[in-house]
Amino acid sequence: MENNLSAQKILDNIFNIMQRLYDEMRLNKNQDREHLKVFEIFAELGRTLVEADRASFWRWDKRAGKLLTATATGTTQIIIDDTSGLVGRALAENRTIVTNDPYNHPDFNSDVDKKTGYVTKSVLVMPVANCRGEIIGAFQVINKLNGNGFDEAQDTKRLSIAAFICGMALESDLFLADSQRDKLTELKNRLGFYSDYKKYRQKFSLDPKNKIPMSIIICDIDFFKKVNDTYGHNAGDAVLVHISKILASNVRDYDGAYRWGGEEFILILTGINLSGAVNVAERIRLAVENSVCHFNCDELRVTMSFGCAEISDALSIEDNVKIADNRLYRAKKTGRNKVVYLDK
Ligand code: GH3
Ligand code: MG
Ligand code: MG
Repeated sequence: MENNLSAQKILDNIFNIMQRLYDEMRLNKNQDREHLKVFEIFAELGRTLVEADRASFWRWDKRAGKLLTATATGTTQIIIDDTSGLVGRALAENRTIVTNDPYNHPDFNSDVDKKTGYVTKSVLVMPVANCRGEIIGAFQVINKLNGNGFDEAQDTKRLSIAAFICGMALESDLFLADSQRDKLTELKNRLGFYSDYKKYRQKFSLDPKNKIPMSIIICDIDFFKKVNDTYGHNAGDAVLVHISKILASNVRDYDGAYRWGGEEFILILTGINLSGAVNVAERIRLAVENSVCHFNCDELRVTMSFGCAEISDALSIEDNVKIADNRLYRAKKTGRNKVVYLDK
């Protein structure tokens, strides 16, 4: 830091950002945007540390081969192939890249500049690792505000504070998401259901005068044991994946489909009352009945039974689920391949 005055100013800015970050983590009630907001503040921390005009933090989805911005100054989310751009290069080679002449750098992608008229003069990209040393993302800062561009030694040292905190936060976010996902079907699991249920209830009970209904549907594959016994466990697994896809494609973005356990699934339908839930369940019942799961040379067909319930805020999660579950039980007892929404 060049002199004491600017050092003091930067330090003050850092303390202010850290306080906002702390308050955001502790007080934030808007859980939908919780992580986005936190990453937004991290980006600002990075920008302040190296005195840059812009900052972005990228998450590396290795399975999909994509890089996604968790946050980026001045733009909505950008998704690119992980083989492209300076960020892709920095991640592939696990090294920091600094350029103060980006238009002549072979890996610089000038598409955003062409589209927006922004002029990139200097770039610094740092790979970000989790605590096991696996690269999970990258921190990028653009256009050093003073001087002649980024100084690799000085600026990577400063940016490492933001990159380190970002890596830890992303790692814990990924870990949480992973613990709520079922590995076979890729639906969320029971933990994910409880977490989303609480989130939705909190959101919808904010305005008690304008109550928004919410319903759940529990469904279970009929005679699933027979599939395993006749075609083998792998065929059974294929049917579970097949059914999960039907469920996921029949709920909207703001609903949820979850693997409750075994061959049993649960759906959350927001803004939908009991009769609406019955319509959704009936639509899914027919879709399952009319579908075929191809496994090796076999064509596997199954049906499902459904229990529907509209959520009552007077009851606990467990008691609401129990009501839907008792109705599912009645569907099983009274013939299967049907939707039940009454208790008698
Ligand atoms: P019902 O119509 O009464 O629901 O009969 P069912 O045969 O579907 O129910 P039952 O509870 O008797 O059997 C469920 C079977 O689901 C037994 C269990 O081995 C199987 N199952 C549970 N999880 C998995 C899984 O992940 N993969 C496979 N292939 N089978 C599973
Ligand atoms: Mg079953
Ligand atoms: Mg079952």
